Amino acid sequence: MGLIAEDIIRGIIDRSDIISVIGRYAALKKYGSNFKALCPFHHEKTPSFVINPDKQIFHCFGCGAGGNVVGFIMRQERLEFPQAVRFLAEQAGIDIPEDQQTSSSPSKQLREEICKINEWASQFFHEILLTNREETVKAARDYLKGRSVDLEIVRKFRLGYAPDEWEALIGVLKHKGISLEVMHQAGLVIPREKGGYYDRFRGRIIFPIFDINNRPVAFGARALSTSEGAKYINSPETPVYTKGRHLFGLNLTKTSVGELDHIVIVEGYMDMIMPFVHGVKNIAASLGTALTVDQIRLIRRYSSNVIMLFDTDPAGQAAIIRSLDLLIDEGMNVKVVTLVQDQDPDSFIRSFGLDAFNERLKRAQTLFDYKFNWLCGQFDPKSIDGKTKICQEMLTTIVRFKSEVTKFELMRLLAKQLNVPEEIITKQAQNQNSSKPKPVIKQTAAKVSEAPKSYEELLITLFLEDHNWAQKARELISPIDFTEGLVRDIVQKIWQMTQENLEWETSRLLSQFPQEAAQSFIAKLLTDANARIKEPQRLFHDCIGRIHKERLKIQKKELMDKIKEAENCGDAVTVEELRAKFQELIKT
Ligand SMILES: [Zn+2]
Repeated sequence: MGLIAEDIIRGIIDRSDIISVIGRYAALKKYGSNFKALCPFHHEKTPSFVINPDKQIFHCFGCGAGGNVVGFIMRQERLEFPQAVRFLAEQAGIDIPEDQQTSSSPSKQLREEICKINEWASQFFHEILLTNREETVKAARDYLKGRSVDLEIVRKFRLGYAPDEWEALIGVLKHKGISLEVMHQAGLVIPREKGGYYDRFRGRIIFPIFDINNRPVAFGARALSTSEGAKYINSPETPVYTKGRHLFGLNLTKTSVGELDHIVIVEGYMDMIMPFVHGVKNIAASLGTALTVDQIRLIRRYSSNVIMLFDTDPAGQAAIIRSLDLLIDEGMNVKVVTLVQDQDPDSFIRSFGLDAFNERLKRAQTLFDYKFNWLCGQFDPKSIDGKTKICQEMLTTIVRFKSEVTKFELMRLLAKQLNVPEEIITKQAQNQNSSKPKPVIKQTAAKVSEAPKSYEELLITLFLEDHNWAQKARELISPIDFTEGLVRDIVQKIWQMTQENLEWETSRLLSQFPQEAAQSFIAKLLTDANARIKEPQRLFHDCIGRIHKERLKIQKKELMDKIKEAENCGDAVTVEELRAKFQELIKT
């Protein structure tokens, strides 16, 4: 990954006001000299997410997340540091010079060009479906009519038809001056073995996939007859499209999702379109796979309440089960709806009507009931083996809840359902927790491994508030006097920066530490700095004193250990030497 020059990063941070950037994702309320909001990174009902406009940092007292504007975008948009910087640059209208770009990060220009090409392609497919008089296109229209997709729906979703020709779209795009290479990068054409390209989508109904800003980023294409290969084919990943980052239809429903404060997640294009047309305005499709973390975070911008409505076939059920744990990890409230066997949302509404569909949504199962029932279908809850399996599987989900009360209540429920004493379930949960490696899921708030001592934190807070303290401390202590690795790194960096020039801003220090743990740690210290620092002079001397004392303690212990070792070996000379050193140490 190519580096972006530091002065450019600084310029981008300076032009990206943290209040306006976070304001695009959360509703901010003024609170003294700070702003408060409901935390976008964990589920909460009262705001504990604080933004300090003066220091340009955020910190959540609930989950510990924190950092500067780049750190926020990294978490929110799930980007690495350089991409987050580019993301902000784009929003602030700052061009990063081309030689700063790298091949692995497609330039803004290319992405814009691909969006434009997709726009043209979707218009082309759409026009064909609306106006073309050929038999195959008529057949496509008849097919849609047969599924009660009327003109209004076709327009609303900009559905289209790709003609059954090898170079129809190529011809259109060439005419607009687009090179074949760029068409290829947009995923619209496929290279021929002997050179040249042909249209990827041929003789299929086209479902454009829009991002939440209504830009077509990819296409799904449905075959009319089953004899023509796969029922659905999709765009490959391109510079503007990553699988599992978008939800089909959310561009049309995001406002309603926010207003109604819940979302119905279905699997496929038609599963989303038909209920929507019949009046279910808070629905989106995951497009086949289980929900990804990116999709969950996209949903969470609008609501934390999810109803999963997937097919009742084993694949659909497995997708739900896979999604449940992720949803809990992300602090979402989940319910699950199942329809009658062999019915999808479209066919269900056509057979039983919208009222029946809404009734099903109302009777959505809790996550506990759904998973428990599913497990009882997999294992025999009457056998000892079955009970054990079910208990294990349920606990892997239950322990993910952040609330201890929820965990407790669910374990109680599990005990009741399995007909075993509650203590057994609690014990099993403890065993499972300690014996199993923790699942490798990125924590929203990465914690430092060994908690730094409070006086260490205070001292660093002093350094951050007033660099003169850092300057003074450099002569008295060293980074290795600090307990924890990350904290040592931070102190090291502060030393370095005070050495280079006396004035530096915190945001600059923060951009030297793109890791979540460091960002959160520094932001936490700064957020309540004023409250904790009353008499800086005294505080400084107290803290330095504590560090010296700790250092002495460690040195003494090390010496004692060595003395013991020498005594065990019967090495009298060394013992004498070490004892002398020890006396020396006590005197200081
Ligand atoms: Zn939080």
